[in-house]
Amino acid sequence: MDVIRLLPDSVANQIAAGEVIQRPASCLKELVENSLDAGARSIRVLVRDAGKSLIQVIDDGSGMSVSDARMAFERHATSKIREAQDLFSIRTMGFRGEALPSICAVAQVKMTTRRAEDEMGTMLDIAGSQVQKQEPCQCPVGTSIQVQNLFFNVPARRRFLKSDQTELRNLITTFQHIVLVYPNISFTFVSDDEIIYDLPVGTLKQRIEGVFGKSKTKLYTSQLLEIEQQTELVTIRGFVGKPEAATKQAQQFFFVNGRYMRHPYFHKAVLQAYSGMLPAEQLPPYFVYFDIAPEQIDVNVHPTKTEIKFADEQSIFPILSATIRAALGKFNVVPSIDFLGGNIEIPVSDDKMRANAKAPQLHVSSGYNPFTPQREHVTPHWQDLYEPLKQSSQQPYQIPSEPLQTELPHALSEKPLHPQAVSGGYICCPTDNGLLLVHARRAHVTILYNQLIIQLQNQQGASQQLLFPEQLTVSADEQVILETLLPDLQHIGFELEKVADKQYNITAMPSMMANKNAEAALRAIVARSAEGASDVRSDIHQRIALTLAQSAAIPMGKTLSEAEMDDLLTRLFALPSYRITPDGKTAVVLLSNEDIARRF
Ligand code: ADP
Ligand code: MG
Repeated sequence: MDVIRLLPDSVANQIAAGEVIQRPASCLKELVENSLDAGARSIRVLVRDAGKSLIQVIDDGSGMSVSDARMAFERHATSKIREAQDLFSIRTMGFRGEALPSICAVAQVKMTTRRAEDEMGTMLDIAGSQVQKQEPCQCPVGTSIQVQNLFFNVPARRRFLKSDQTELRNLITTFQHIVLVYPNISFTFVSDDEIIYDLPVGTLKQRIEGVFGKSKTKLYTSQLLEIEQQTELVTIRGFVGKPEAATKQAQQFFFVNGRYMRHPYFHKAVLQAYSGMLPAEQLPPYFVYFDIAPEQIDVNVHPTKTEIKFADEQSIFPILSATIRAALGKFNVVPSIDFLGGNIEIPVSDDKMRANAKAPQLHVSSGYNPFTPQREHVTPHWQDLYEPLKQSSQQPYQIPSEPLQTELPHALSEKPLHPQAVSGGYICCPTDNGLLLVHARRAHVTILYNQLIIQLQNQQGASQQLLFPEQLTVSADEQVILETLLPDLQHIGFELEKVADKQYNITAMPSMMANKNAEAALRAIVARSAEGASDVRSDIHQRIALTLAQSAAIPMGKTLSEAEMDDLLTRLFALPSYRITPDGKTAVVLLSNEDIARRF
C-alpha cells in the first residue's frame, strides 16, 4: 500500500506558519513589509493584548483587485518573483508568497482592499485557511488586514507565547526596525488604544528622534554624529553616538538594503573605531545603513533570521571602522554640532588644516608633573617648561586663515590666557570666541595620556627610582598578562624585578606618578588589559596610557594656582585633540559669545 500522501493545504500552511509566524511580532513584520512592498506612504498599526487578540495593519498602498485579493492567500502566490533567478536580485521585502497563507492558517483574518482604479473594494473573511466570505465593500484605497486571535487553533503555540509585556516589546522592536529605514513614510503604532508612536514623514534624524527621543529639552540626536562613506563596494551612512553618549544599553542598529540585520563582526568594527574612547562596559549607540549590490549579500535566508551574510565582509570591516573613526576625529577637533536645525552638515574635515599644521614641537620633560609637591626636583620652574612652547609659537601651528566660527582657541595664541579657578575643580577662561570651561582633572588625564602614548611609541619614559621597592603579588593569570606588558611598562618608566613566581618588586616607576601608589597603578593596568584581551599594540598602549593617566592625574576638585592653570591649559591646547578625554568624557566646553548673548 502506498503510504505517501499529499498534505492538505491547511496542514501544509500550518507547518509553514510554524516557521514564518512564530509570534505576534513576526506576523506584524510580514504585514508591514507587504504594505511597504505595496508602496504605502502611511502605515497604521493597531494591536490588542500584545497582538494576541488583534494585529491590524492599515496602509494606503496599491490595494488588490478582486481576484488578487483571493490569490494572495494561496500558498506561494506572490506578485514579486516569477523565476527562480529573480531570487538573486530581490529588492522587495517579501518574495516567498508564504506570509499571508501562513497567517491565515493560524488566525482569523479579515481583509479589506481597494485599488485606486476600482470603485468598490473587496472584503475577505478567512479562518484557519478557509475562506468564510468574500464580498464587495466600501473602503479607502489601500489595504487593511486584521489578524485576530493568533494561534486560536494551535493551542500549543498559543501557550508558547510569552507574557504580554514581552510580546509587546517584541512588537515594538520589530516596528522600530522597520520605521528606522523609512523616514519618508508615516507610521503610527497604537496598543490597546494608547498611541505608542506617531511618526510623521521627516529626515532620518527626525525619525530617530521620534523613536528614541524622550525628553523635549534634550534631543537624543544631539548626541549623534552623521557618517557617510561611498565606495565601489558599499555605501555606508547613518549616525553614530559621540563617545559621551555611550551607555550600558545603547541603541545599536545595522541595516542592509533597507533591512534590519544583526552583524557581530561589523559590530566589532564599530567598537574598534571607538577604541580608547569609551569607559569600560559602555557601548555607543549607532544607526548604520549599508547599501550594497544585492548579489553581494545572501538575503534568501530564513524569513525570521536577522543575520545576513556578506560576500566581502573582510573589506567592509576596515571601511566601516575608518568611516566612524573619521567622524569621531572631526568631532574631537570641531565643536559639537547642533543637530536641531534640520539639515545637518558636519563642518568640512579638519584634515587639511591638520595636514598643513605641523604638530608643535614639545620638548617637555616627560617626568614633569606640575601638581606634585616636589616638582622642583623634577624641573626647576614651570616657566621653563613654557619656553619650548613659546618658541614653537613661531612655527606654523595655526588656525587656517578662514577659521571655523566655533573654533576653540589654540594653544599657541600670542594672547596670554587669564584662567580663573572655579570651585569644584574647573577652570574658566575668557577668549575671543567666548568663555572656555575646562574640567581640570579630565584635562590633566588627556595631557598625561598623550604624553604616555608618545613615550610608549618612542620607548623613552622618565623613570624615578623608589627608595623602598614596593611589592606586587599577582595571580597566575595576572602574571601572564603582566609578563606581556613588561616591555611597554619599562618604556614608560616602570622597573620590575621578579623575585619569585607571581611576585615582583617594583623598583622604579614613571616619574609622572610622583610617589603615587605604583602597585595600585600596575594592578589597574593589568585589570584593564584583562578586559577583552587584545594583542593589537596600539590597543595595549591605549589601555596602559589611560590607566596610568587616570592614576597620575590630579584629583577632581583640586584647586590650582594660576601658574598651574596656565600650564595646564597651554599643554592641553597644544594637543591635536583635547575636547574629550581618551575615555570619551567632555574635558572642555566652550560657551560661545552667541551662547552667552542668547542667555540674556
Ligand atoms: P509575498 O509578500 O512574499 O509576495 P505574501 O503572502 O506576504 O507573499 O503576500 C502575497 C501577495 O499578496 C503579495 O505578493 C502581494 O501581491 C499581495 N499583498 C499582500 N499584502 C498586500 C498589501 N498590503 N497591499 C497590496 N498587496 C498585498
Ligand atoms: Mg509578504
